[in-house]
Amino acid sequence: MIPHYDVVVVGGGPNGMGIACYLAKCGLSVCVCEDRLELGGGVENAEPLPGFRIDPHATYFYGAAGPPVTQLELAKFGFRLNYYRDLMGAVNSRGEAVSLSLYDAERSAKYLERYSKRDADAWRLYAGMPRDSMVRLLRSIYWTPPPPVGMEIPREDLPWVKVLRENLPLFDMSWLDLSLFEILDLLVENETLKAGMGMSAWYNGPHPDWAGTGIFGLTCNLLHGISSGSPAGGMHTLAHALARACMHHGVRFLTNCKVEEIIVEEGAATGVRLSDDAPVGFRTIRADRAVISGVHVKSTFQKLVAARHLPLDFLERVRGISLKGSSLFTLALITTEGPKWTGDAAEIYGETYPTCIFMPCDSVEMVRNQTRDVDSLNTHPVRPESMMVPVCQHDRCDPTRCPPGYHVLSPIYLQVPPPEDHAGGPRAVNEAKEEIIEAILRAIRTVAPNLTDDKIVAKFVNTPHDSSLRNLGFVGGGWYGSRQADDEWYDKRPLPELSRYRTPIERLYLCNQTSYPGGLALFAVPYNLMHILIPDLKLAPGEWWQPSPDFIPEEV
Ligand SMILES: Cc1cc2nc3c(=O)[nH]c(=O)nc-3n(C[C@H](O)[C@H](O)[C@H](O)COP(=O)(O)OP(=O)(O)OC[C@H]3O[C@@H](n4cnc5c(N)ncnc54)[C@H](O)[C@@H]3O)c2cc1C
Repeated sequence: MIPHYDVVVVGGGPNGMGIACYLAKCGLSVCVCEDRLELGGGVENAEPLPGFRIDPHATYFYGAAGPPVTQLELAKFGFRLNYYRDLMGAVNSRGEAVSLSLYDAERSAKYLERYSKRDADAWRLYAGMPRDSMVRLLRSIYWTPPPPVGMEIPREDLPWVKVLRENLPLFDMSWLDLSLFEILDLLVENETLKAGMGMSAWYNGPHPDWAGTGIFGLTCNLLHGISSGSPAGGMHTLAHALARACMHHGVRFLTNCKVEEIIVEEGAATGVRLSDDAPVGFRTIRADRAVISGVHVKSTFQKLVAARHLPLDFLERVRGISLKGSSLFTLALITTEGPKWTGDAAEIYGETYPTCIFMPCDSVEMVRNQTRDVDSLNTHPVRPESMMVPVCQHDRCDPTRCPPGYHVLSPIYLQVPPPEDHAGGPRAVNEAKEEIIEAILRAIRTVAPNLTDDKIVAKFVNTPHDSSLRNLGFVGGGWYGSRQADDEWYDKRPLPELSRYRTPIERLYLCNQTSYPGGLALFAVPYNLMHILIPDLKLAPGEWWQPSPDFIPEEV
């Protein structure tokens, strides 16, 4: 017998599980088909040595300011987040250090005063925005669907522009055209601050030199300043909480069940076909109301939907979606000592030092050098003048990460080209692992000289190529799926006609990081998609559902 569900979701990553949970909570029967043995997609942990937990991909949860955590009741299902007073910082090779903390904004401003009074004053104005307004700003950007396809919104009516005009005296409409570095040039002078904020934007959204994305780069800092923490026990505990919530509402999970094809009949998606080795007694699953693809937009249209159902020019434009700008080489170090700082950093990063520090964060030029290596020369950075990396250390707040007497520096990220673009071929980064590790260690030792070889017990690497083999959803091994440049963002993400999560195939919707607002396990994609599915599937959610106040329905 062929099983039927109202909705079949392809892929059990955070976005696929997120929409499954929402829909099941609305009373629909939902089945999630996941290729891997484990649910969670990029939200996973590995235990390469017994007792040591590392994060091969995602490491921070940035979604605390959004509605989904409450609407899906994740705390009730076991989700616990460690909040940090200082999440992000940057230190240069002279030991000068900044903290990008918004929890203790005055303390961060005081430290900045050592290097620049002007920067400290700017920080006070920015970080002094009322907390409610910061949340409102983040929700207006991330947790709000783009406008209906084809609708042009006057710039002054863009949701985040309204919030910024009301709440940030520094804001100027000209910022809409600027890159993050151009905005920072207007406001601050300290290079470590600029480079640190630029890098943290690049690792959470747009590159700091991309025109027209400066505001989103700036709000990346708000995301990790007020909306983030690290899940107690590791990032994968988030996937477990979400899976429990899904099962509570009746979602059926089929793991180890790869979807080979999204079945399309008379222009509409009607179900999925599983691979022949799927360990269940059927190959076809019917979807009576919708199929939702929780996998990369390229996989969806180049592999899962047969080409005969799609216009050729559409397929051509899917092929043209750029993967650049989000592929990361990930290193984990198990050590017997944490980093010991020199210079001002020793004092500034005393007891509460940030759990993620960019190092050595000397200049904006270094960020540009790294970009040149990765995006223009299509190679992995190893030159000292390109080497600036974020080093995360969760064990300072989370004893589950390693046994006493050890430290886990994980992840340490480095931007590299997507395997598809690398000048040396798709396996070039894998073949250069040792060389890249050496370059990273040299860079770290310029600010933390104590981390010598005798303090390092083990090293583990995950490359974008590894990621794309392990998780079919990670085309290009990227944390954003496709870039967050102006031409692949907001109402153009991933393509203009797909921006409201609908597709040229009736009853087929997208719910992956390649849709707006992009990467990060924020549950923003499923939350935004709900605004579209409520009218399309005639859903009647309970009072728990609160739509975005900035949502523009179709009829408007
Ligand atoms: C190095 C790195 C660092 C990151 N750091 C962070 C971070 O600190 N914080 C953060 O929030 N995010 C981070 N991210 C991003 C985050 O991991 C992704 O944004 C998130 O996992 C995307 O979720 P998703 O559900 O859209 O896709 P995925 O997580 O890719 O899930 C897709 C799922 O679909 C499954 N699948 C694919 N094809 C099929 C098929 N044919 N049939 C059945 N199943 C299929 C896959 O196995 C996978 O489980 C990082 C990512 C990387 C790579």
